[in-house]
Amino acid sequence: MEEIKNDKKKKVLLVDDDATIRTTYADIFRSEGFEVVEAGDGMEGLDKAIAEMPDVIFTGIIMPKMDGFDLKDALAKNVATVNIPVLMSSHMGREEDRQKAMAMGVKDFFVVGMITPRHVLEKVRALFSSKKYHLKFDALALDAPKLAADFHLNEFRCEKCNELKIMVVEIMDVNKEEFKTQFVCPECK
Ligand SMILES: [Zn+2]
Repeated sequence: MEEIKNDKKKKVLLVDDDATIRTTYADIFRSEGFEVVEAGDGMEGLDKAIAEMPDVIFTGIIMPKMDGFDLKDALAKNVATVNIPVLMSSHMGREEDRQKAMAMGVKDFFVVGMITPRHVLEKVRALFSSKKYHLKFDALALDAPKLAADFHLNEFRCEKCNELKIMVVEIMDVNKEEFKTQFVCPECK
């Protein structure tokens, strides 16, 4: 089993038009060893995301020029930034905003006033502390053929290169023995 190492200093991009909020978060993230990049609106956030390639983005919603939703949308349309996890904070805490954010693939949605910066930091940190393992999978064992059929997988072979896929297991909750499993081509990833 191979464990992915996370030794590099993580870079967080903070996007909010409120300089006080940005400073508060920047101080906390820096004191916890993060590299911090700041942007005052969605447009600047998009530019900095592309230029700086942060490991994670924490953005507000309502901002001049480009709001948080449009920022997330633009990030998703760019191959360079599509995989950067985005966390969002809302001043209004509207349920429809939360649902929209989640539907767009936002990792977490916070309501300002209901959370502390420390709490956000812990959520961000949790994104990087996930334990992933790459395991060889026996494509003929037990229920494997049925699993392949149910997943509409071509006998666990890659659609592009026909290589046998491997199983990537990620621990979600150690105490509940909860895992997330994906089948990935070792060549194409
Ligand atoms: Zn492949």
